[in-house]
Amino acid sequence: MSLRNKILLAFFLTVSAMLVALALILQAEVRRHFLSVVCPEINSVSPSLTQQIQIHFEQALAQSLMWTVLVFVVATAGAAVLVSRAITRRILGMRTQALEIAHGKWGTTVPVEGRDELSSLATTLNFLSQQLQKQEELRKNLMQDLAHELRTPLTTLRSHIQAFYDGLWEPTRERLYSCLEEIERFETLVASVETLYEADAAVETAQPDSPSTDLNHVAESTIHLFEPRCAQAGIRLELRTPDAPVRTVAQAQHVSQILSNLLDNAVKFTPQGGLIVVEIGREGGKPFLSVRDSGVGIPESEIDNIFERFYRVDKSRDRKTGGSGLGLAIVKRLVERSGGSVRVESRVGHGSKFTVIWPK
Ligand code: ADP
Repeated sequence: MSLRNKILLAFFLTVSAMLVALALILQAEVRRHFLSVVCPEINSVSPSLTQQIQIHFEQALAQSLMWTVLVFVVATAGAAVLVSRAITRRILGMRTQALEIAHGKWGTTVPVEGRDELSSLATTLNFLSQQLQKQEELRKNLMQDLAHELRTPLTTLRSHIQAFYDGLWEPTRERLYSCLEEIERFETLVASVETLYEADAAVETAQPDSPSTDLNHVAESTIHLFEPRCAQAGIRLELRTPDAPVRTVAQAQHVSQILSNLLDNAVKFTPQGGLIVVEIGREGGKPFLSVRDSGVGIPESEIDNIFERFYRVDKSRDRKTGGSGLGLAIVKRLVERSGGSVRVESRVGHGSKFTVIWPK
């Protein structure tokens, strides 16, 4: 039996049973009172009158009860039809939407009426549908971007090797080195995609981080890895840490990855003679880590975009610096995983400051 018929039947049977019970009780009670209180007095005056009054009274009572029951039953049936139709119409709408979602038609919505359980279910379904559409768009964009990013080093490599093969080019050290650079770019990209995938998976299976990582300790060990690069590029690298340990809920390897990505950008976008300062501390009791550089800076209009996958402010410049456009996307995902947030302050020509803050 369909839900609509079940609602109808339940409504109808309940109201009918209540009405019949009410009618029987009413009739029995009125009759008892009438016979025990009213009739003895009239009976002493005229017994036949008593009989007539009793018959008429019982008929009037029975008929009025019968009409009342009939009217109520019809009204109830009408109300039941309307209510069940209203409920099942909304459920059927949601069923259609669920089927559409199952068949890959995402982004559709059902109207949210009122503020009951069904409207909350409709809101959830609409949210699910939109989220699935968003995920699908992200997936498509990711595939397109990835294909685009992979094509460039592959095309360069192919043309170089073809030229060697055809004898158009001598495989000199410089030319072979440029092939190696393209292969490195390729490897970096694949490694970044892997890291991003892991960060995504970590967010999906979000189990709250519980370790108590000392930011000072992680910063010190990560910074050592960048010292030779900075020295080579003529950049001064400073670490400012408080004496006491600054503990956060994020995992040490994630903090190290976040700092590495931020430092990698800072080194890439800071010219010779520049300064990079890594600072650890607390802001309103919350642990933070910041990386400030005196580099090229980021235009204000671009700040909202830089955390998107494969986004690069200046594609030609970034191609030379070897960025994949995934570094900050990874930072954002890892920071979100431990309930933190990232803030950016930047001025073109003066430098940038990235601050990561974790919960207390
Ligand atoms: P990439 O791996 O290419 O560096 P990111 O996601 O790390 O990609 O950064 C995105 C873009 O944001 C970079 O290509 C760069 O244009 C800009 N950017 C990030 N950090 C800095 C910085 N410290 N100074 C200037 N520009 C930056």
